[in-house]
Amino acid sequence: MEEKLRILVVDDDEVDRIAVRRALTKAGVEMELSEMVDGTQVLAILTDTLYDCVFLDYRLPDQNGLSLLQKLRSHNINVPVIVLTGQGDEQIAVELMKAGASDYLSKSRLSPIILAQVLRNAIRIHRAEMQVALANQQLRESNELLIRKNQELEAQRQHIELQNLKLIEASRLKSQFLATMSHELRTPMNAIIGFSQLLLRPKCGQLTDQQTDMVQRILNNGKHLLMLLNEVLDFSKLEAGRLDLKPDIFDLSKVVNATVEEMRSLAEQKHLSLFIQSDLQNPVVFNDPIRVRQILTNLLSNAIKFTESGGIAVEVKELSENEVEIAVRDTGIGIAPADLQNIFEAFRQVDQSITRKYPGTGLGLPIIKALLQKMGGKIALESQLGEGSVFRVKIPRQISSLAEQGQDRASNSTHASAKKKFLETTGNSSLCSRRCTEQEQR
Ligand code: ADP
Repeated sequence: MEEKLRILVVDDDEVDRIAVRRALTKAGVEMELSEMVDGTQVLAILTDTLYDCVFLDYRLPDQNGLSLLQKLRSHNINVPVIVLTGQGDEQIAVELMKAGASDYLSKSRLSPIILAQVLRNAIRIHRAEMQVALANQQLRESNELLIRKNQELEAQRQHIELQNLKLIEASRLKSQFLATMSHELRTPMNAIIGFSQLLLRPKCGQLTDQQTDMVQRILNNGKHLLMLLNEVLDFSKLEAGRLDLKPDIFDLSKVVNATVEEMRSLAEQKHLSLFIQSDLQNPVVFNDPIRVRQILTNLLSNAIKFTESGGIAVEVKELSENEVEIAVRDTGIGIAPADLQNIFEAFRQVDQSITRKYPGTGLGLPIIKALLQKMGGKIALESQLGEGSVFRVKIPRQISSLAEQGQDRASNSTHASAKKKFLETTGNSSLCSRRCTEQEQR
């Protein structure tokens, strides 16, 4: 069923009004038609009532169609207007269309077909224009919303940037504080260790058993505290990029053996087995022996600390000509998958409660990670909760020399000659491994 249209005919000539009504009726237009004879009422009624279309006589008694159209548009009254012109008025059609008329029609051509066609076109075009205007309006609003959101985001970005700068500064101050404090605390700690060692020497006078026990405890705790201070100092230096590697040529097997032997008594105290499985064809490497030892010590002390029964195995092998791997395998408490990544972050421990069973600073693994990064190495971890863990450290057989690391010139020449020696040695690796074995046999 066709929709019923609300139509307004504005014409002072009754005959013309009747002609429009008849033509529309004859064309079968479903409508509710109102009539008006002059322009002054039109503005008022169109302000209050919605019409689908207005037929407007160009020549009204009080004004012409052009000025009425302009008034309608200036009052934002958006209704399709078809202007009915008399004979000879067609030349002003262009002006009418410019003023916003939907169409114009000469009264001499008022046939039902033409009138209905012009009416339907005008309504269709008007509705399409309204939809476009609505879509445009929505677009404008979304655009404004986007601009507002963008401004909010920009403000948030600036806020975050500021917070970031503050965080970086706070972190720098924290590192500086840690470095200064651990450095300052080391001096009195060394004195405590030194004097307790002196007291334990027989030539300093005989102590009673109880006194010896007390001094021994002071010494042990002092050493432990010094180890913790060194850990904090190393970490803060690594964080500030102020820790330099001191590469030298050395025998990796020997360093691994010495480190393991140093830790053996700790493993024995817990009745844990500790053995090395070495599969190195060529044990000579060019790296920082102290830092390689530190990496292994940290891994071993963790393995012993977090293992209650079973044992620890240290496996050393060549991955390729230029890469060696040291793996520390334990049968300890293991690590849950969710914690695997976290534990490499500074101060992160699986158990962070004050009442935790296992002591530590939470800096062992971050130090290992940072040292390996400096060496161009890597660490990988496999673990199963309740079963145990394997930490695999991969290091290049030859790290870059100090000159390549951009360090001071004074110490360069020594290290450059060490590197040269290393290159000469590895140039004849079979000879070297033989010589090392010989030395070990001796
Ligand atoms: P710390 O040992 O001083 O707590 P680390 O950085 O060396 O700090 O280790 C961080 C955490 O990773 C430990 O607190 C522990 O929760 C976990 N972890 C490290 N090594 C092992 C291991 N071999 N077995 C089980 N958990 C481990």
